[in-house]
Amino acid sequence: MAIKNEVVRLEITALTNEGNGVGRHEGLTVFVPQTAVGDVINARLVKLYPRYAYGRLETLLVPSPDRVEPDCPVYRFCGGCALRHIGYMAELRAKQRLAADAFTHIGGFSETLCRPIVGCFQINGYRNKAMYPVRRVQGEVRIGFYRRRTHEVVEASGCLLQPEEFSQIAGALRQFLEETGLSCYDEQTGKGLVRHLYLRRAEVTGQILVCLILNGKKLPQAGRFLELLDALALPIETVALNQNLKNTNVILGDKTVVLRGSSVISDVLCGVRVKLSPESFYQVNHDAAEKLYRFVEECAALDGSQTLLDLYCGAGTIGLSMAGKAKELIGVEVIPQAVENARRNAEDNGIGNARFLCADAQQAAMQLAGEGIHPDVVVMDPPRKGCSPQTLETVAGMAPSRVVMVSCNPATAARDCKQLEAMGYQLESVTPFDLFPRTGHVETVCLLSHKNPTA
Ligand code: SAH
Repeated sequence: MAIKNEVVRLEITALTNEGNGVGRHEGLTVFVPQTAVGDVINARLVKLYPRYAYGRLETLLVPSPDRVEPDCPVYRFCGGCALRHIGYMAELRAKQRLAADAFTHIGGFSETLCRPIVGCFQINGYRNKAMYPVRRVQGEVRIGFYRRRTHEVVEASGCLLQPEEFSQIAGALRQFLEETGLSCYDEQTGKGLVRHLYLRRAEVTGQILVCLILNGKKLPQAGRFLELLDALALPIETVALNQNLKNTNVILGDKTVVLRGSSVISDVLCGVRVKLSPESFYQVNHDAAEKLYRFVEECAALDGSQTLLDLYCGAGTIGLSMAGKAKELIGVEVIPQAVENARRNAEDNGIGNARFLCADAQQAAMQLAGEGIHPDVVVMDPPRKGCSPQTLETVAGMAPSRVVMVSCNPATAARDCKQLEAMGYQLESVTPFDLFPRTGHVETVCLLSHKNPTA
């Protein structure tokens, strides 16, 4: 029997999506952060459960050939990246394994359905969005990321995943807070004004959104903040304030007011000009998202005569990128601002065959089924928790000949594909995509076809 704080010898044989190495000790599965497949280590068992444990790396006895020196000074503490201690090829292998394991273990599918992962050319500086928590620690301003598994902020405004401009803007905010002495949010007391700095940058136009999330209604001396931003001479299109007065982990509050500029920034994705509100979801890795969308289009195999349903459509981008190949496009999204963006994006691009419903995916699917609409192809891109069983049932009930499921969580995607399989669909292929290099996340695209298309 293992005991807490015991030091055990482990061989690391796999990685989890949190980037933890997995080893086994006397029937116990042990997770050890920042280790690599092939490492032989001594680990201290810091947390012990009946069947698994968390270990801390004590001594690296034999290093894995996958190991590289992490290129970020805060990698050891910051919770953003998980795989900077291994090379990119090893990262792709680990992600391929993660996706394949989810589909074989959770979904019960054959591994032969899993295609090779599509990697990225650019593995740093690819993110177009950052949400930096802003805090004061003994009076000193910190703008960065949460330390792994805590809510303590690690100073990381020079993050390698973000574009260079974001560090400059974080610097301007720091100067503003130092000059004005304005308070920053404290999660313990629920007091303090500035909670987060939210930044977005459109890849193609370069336009930047700067949004401060406040635990309050006004930003005192806002003029000075604008002056400091102006001094950077960056293409800042919109400066907005978002109010979040609730003491929860949800970052964005319900109300956004524009301090300056229009309320949106513009980008171009797969040839579609898109306008984005702060509240709308947008793919964080533009170039990889274009590859992903083109692949989804290939899977959808539209020939101009079909109805395409884009469930969980955000600002409408996936559907709009292939609307020219469909007879009709129907998009469904629950966030009103994103639906407004989607409608405007269709209009701005002269896409006349699209309509968008602002509703919960399940209710919208039921409504459309009730209207007698039978989409030929359904593209669905749900959030991490996946789809509800009822949503899948309603989708299957509409009997599309193809379903293309895009997901950022292989575990829920595998579960949902398994349910669709039980309702008349066959999983044709699973293609992992690396949209988030150096982090533990992996995206998958699943193509399912109706087993009996004439039924
Ligand atoms: N397909 C889009 C967005 C994908 S993210 C793109 O590629 O950009 C998932 C989207 O689902 C988000 O926009 C989120 O607001 C929306 N969403 C979450 N739960 C939903 C639900 N129950 N019904 C409809 N949309 C939902």
